[in-house]
Amino acid sequence: MTHTPVRRTPWPESSSRAVVTPLQPSVVYASDTPDALDAQYEGRTPGFTYAREGHPNATVLAQKIDALEGAEGGIIVGSGMAAVTAVMLGLLKAGDHVLGGDQLYGRSLRMLAQDLPRMGITTSLADPTDVAAMAAALRPETRMILVEVVSNPTLRVADMEGIARLAQDRGVLLVVDNTFTTPRGYRPFDHGADIVIHSVTKLLAGHSDVTLGYVALRDPALRRPVYDAATTFGLTPSPFDCWLAERGLYSFNLRYDRAEENAARLADHLATLPGIRRVIYPTRADHPDHNRALALLGRRGGNMLSFELEGGRAAANALTRAAPNIAFAPTLGDIGTTLSHPPSSSHRALTPEARAALGISEGFFRVSVGVEEIEILMAEFTEAVAAAARA
Ligand SMILES: *Cc1c(COP(=O)(O)O)cnc(C)c1O
Repeated sequence: MTHTPVRRTPWPESSSRAVVTPLQPSVVYASDTPDALDAQYEGRTPGFTYAREGHPNATVLAQKIDALEGAEGGIIVGSGMAAVTAVMLGLLKAGDHVLGGDQLYGRSLRMLAQDLPRMGITTSLADPTDVAAMAAALRPETRMILVEVVSNPTLRVADMEGIARLAQDRGVLLVVDNTFTTPRGYRPFDHGADIVIHSVTKLLAGHSDVTLGYVALRDPALRRPVYDAATTFGLTPSPFDCWLAERGLYSFNLRYDRAEENAARLADHLATLPGIRRVIYPTRADHPDHNRALALLGRRGGNMLSFELEGGRAAANALTRAAPNIAFAPTLGDIGTTLSHPPSSSHRALTPEARAALGISEGFFRVSVGVEEIEILMAEFTEAVAAAARA
């Protein structure tokens, strides 16, 4: 019997460097001495101590998204909802009020409706396309406004310039969830936002194989409480997820441009098909916020479009069945086109009347357009819409 211990050893030396960012799964980091640890904790030397507090793969990813958003010191967390959570828990206290856009991401709506009130934080919602409605909903104790630039799933375009002015006049923090628009379409810090949030899960990572979130804050003094909330409440991102998301990010600009071009063409194509009641795409002339979309986004309509079929649930079932290559899945931003049906997923908790008020009938679909050949996509949708019309 031998007693050779298996010990950890330094990484093999190489006079040449790896081209790819290494994946570093280590939870802990060893220091030389207590003095060296002091120096690190006091910020005199850089370094990592424990992965819940930060790790190299998160830092590398944060810096890349910072560059896209024109930000500094962005924080990576375990999901888009972790990003919303870190902002809320880090910056709000009992007695504060939060005003949200009325068509926020479903879980953000739930957080405002159910979770923050349990902690003594009051909330209300208003239509972000109507700045007068937003102004009327502000209270003396309002600390924060949370909006998305393009709403889900009706793709209404918020009055971002008006809301930014309102937030500044009233001394309220403006938080922009930029998941749908991405920094390729809109950079909130260039337009008065105080805080930018992303679900990195979606377009930035782009391959539906990680859940991650990102937060950046314009005021460096606000970074610490948000970072502390993320660390204390354990909203830690996995190094492997960060590594995969970084890999995805290298093709983000290309993917986005291609998906956006596809979306604009697919929207125009769908509008010509019999059996389609309406198509929603921000830069189309028939979009209800067309002028604002042009002013805010230019030609950057994004990769998301929605459409409404004639006919009810039977037509909707026939459509997804006739499009086997287009994943019917409640997400967005994947490299491939995906289709979601809000009445049976994100908006299923609403009454049919409440859905009707939003314009979401049983024939309503949202498409996250991917990077496929546009001719193939158009042919597949033509066939699926025809099958729906026969149903
Ligand atoms: C998906 C999404 C989120 C939540 O992100 P997760 O990574 O799924 O937690 C938040 N906001 C918007 C706009 C989203 O689309």
